[in-house]
Amino acid sequence: VIRVAREHVLRTLDVLRTCGGGVRECVIYWLADLTGTEVQDVIHPEHTATAVGYMVDSAWITTFFVQLAATRRRAVSQVHSHPGDWVGHSSTDDEFGLVPSPGFVSVVCPRFGQVEDSDRFGIHLLGPDGRWMPARDAVEW
Ligand SMILES: [Zn+2]
Repeated sequence: VIRVAREHVLRTLDVLRTCGGGVRECVIYWLADLTGTEVQDVIHPEHTATAVGYMVDSAWITTFFVQLAATRRRAVSQVHSHPGDWVGHSSTDDEFGLVPSPGFVSVVCPRFGQVEDSDRFGIHLLGPDGRWMPARDAVEW
C-alpha cells in the first residue's frame, strides 16, 4: 500500500491540469525511498502528449533511473490523466508501465486532472503474474 499525503495529491493535480491545459494527457511519477511506501516526491517527466495518449522521452527515462539509484529512491507509482471520466487501463496503459515489477501502481486521473480530489481516480496494481488489476486500496490517501 502506497501512502500519499494531500500536498502531493494537490501538486499532482496541479501539474496534470497545467501541463494538459484541459486538452492533453500528462504523466507524473511518485517517488518513495527504497524500502518505504510513503510518497516523498512528485516528478513530472519530459513527455509529449495528445488528447488520448502520452510518450515519455526515452533519454529522460535513462537519466531518471540513474538519478533514482544515486539518491536511493524508487518510483512506486505513475499517475496519468485521461480525457473523460473513464479511469480504466487501455491496452497502451497496460503496456507502458514505467516499472514492470509486481506491486507497481498505476493511477488514472479523469478529466485531464480537472477534479477536486482523488475519489474518482482509477487505481491499478501490477500483479505477480504481470497483469494489471483494479486495486482501490493500493493507495492510502
Ligand atoms: Zn505533463
